Amino acid sequence: MAKKKSKREYVWLECSKCKSRNYRTNVSVAEGTPKITLKKFCKNEREHTVHKIRRK
Ligand SMILES: [Zn+2]
Repeated sequence: MAKKKSKREYVWLECSKCKSRNYRTNVSVAEGTPKITLKKFCKNEREHTVHKIRRK
């Protein structure tokens, strides 16, 4: 598998309410950790909450 130039990394999407890491995704980290917030369903609150990227 050929390596691409763009630096991608697997990150967690962490719920901003309960801090549980509910989703994994991969993002480009070439210019640092992207400041992305996503509304995702969290099973702890049983509602959509803001999820933030958390690198390992
Ligand atoms: Zn939550």
